[in-house]
Amino acid sequence: MKKFLIFFAFIACSLLAANTSKVALPKDNDMVLVCCSEKAYAYHDHYCTGLNKCEAEVKKVSAKVAVNTYKRKPCKFCYKIQK
Ligand SMILES: [Zn+2]
Repeated sequence: MKKFLIFFAFIACSLLAANTSKVALPKDNDMVLVCCSEKAYAYHDHYCTGLNKCEAEVKKVSAKVAVNTYKRKPCKFCYKIQK
């Protein structure tokens, strides 16, 4: 039963996230937002839940720079991560 509830919660969260998230990842030249904190690990499409927690400077860079220079991964709030 507990497993079922966790599964249901997961589905509900996924549906909720799908409504606000972009499906496609940005192209190399698309601009994304990165938080310049040491703890930051993602790049963002907009000021999402994750980026709002950023206490450092937020920079706008191309997706290519975010990945290659800042070593960032797509934010799970902003982008629907595809495996
Ligand atoms: Zn984000």
